[in-house]
Amino acid sequence: MNANAVGVIGAGTMGAGIALVAARKRYSVTLMDTSPAVLEKARSYIESMLVRDVEKGKMSEPEKAETERNMTYIQDMSGLRGHEIVIEAVPERLGLKKSIFQALTELCAEDAMLMSNTSSISITEIAGGLAHPERILGFHFFNPAPVMPLIEVIRGQKTAEAYVQKAYEFALRLGKTPVLAGDSPGFIVNRVARPFYNEALRILGDRIAGVEQIDRIMKQAGGFKMGPFELQDLIGIDINFATTESVYSNFFHEGRFKPSRIQQRMVQSGALGRKAGEGFYDYGK
Ligand code: NAD
Repeated sequence: MNANAVGVIGAGTMGAGIALVAARKRYSVTLMDTSPAVLEKARSYIESMLVRDVEKGKMSEPEKAETERNMTYIQDMSGLRGHEIVIEAVPERLGLKKSIFQALTELCAEDAMLMSNTSSISITEIAGGLAHPERILGFHFFNPAPVMPLIEVIRGQKTAEAYVQKAYEFALRLGKTPVLAGDSPGFIVNRVARPFYNEALRILGDRIAGVEQIDRIMKQAGGFKMGPFELQDLIGIDINFATTESVYSNFFHEGRFKPSRIQQRMVQSGALGRKAGEGFYDYGK
């Protein structure tokens, strides 16, 4: 058992970034993904970011070498045996997340803190029916994880207070700004953000303004760093759509959260944003 070891499950957009955040704070990080190609991409991303840290004088060459030695990339969850801190960042599907937490409950240390980076799925539902719901909580980073300071620490119906405190302190040790949130659909930020995306999509669907125009107005007049379409491309249209679907369904289909057909068609056609080379903008495949 080692409280300085962090396991991250899923090495995609969020998992790779989360692993980098923990590695930079000198945790030993085990990054797990079922896809070897994704793991390789995550490794080269993390290594390139550490090279940059050295160039910027944030890390010495020996520190970089040690950080890299402390990183392990695995395809099988058994490598997380005995871990005390695990963050799950697999796709936004309840069944998948539940199965992972079920396995983690059996595999990890008895008092392990098991956290989900879910954007919108209820922590209570993920933990429901599992042997130790008191250890399961939400730990929600924002994209890109190494840059965005906020982490929502989400308390499920049965999460024990001691774990909420531990997670809060862990977020501080990662150099982040934690905020405690109750377990409601979309938590705080993604609930507030739904109308930002949905209304932009409605304006586009009603042919009131185009993608670039809406983005430009939100940035220039609204003071946002990115417009709603640029942000969807960055997040991944599939991820953003899944979040809206989940919030909509968990609010018993309240019209204000209704997902957009434009997004649905883009997901169906594979235009998933930057990661696919095409989304609302063309990134050149
Ligand atoms: P992603 O698709 O980029 O990465 C998910 C990874 O999980 C993939 O690499 C996939 O191979 C892997 N995976 C699938 N099944 C697995 C399994 N059984 N075991 C191990 N790995 C498995 O997704 P993402 O954007 O990183 O999102 C991950 C989670 O983070 C989701 O719950 C999402 O809602 C949440 N989130 C996403 C963002 C965002 O902006 N993308 C922001 C905050 C939170």
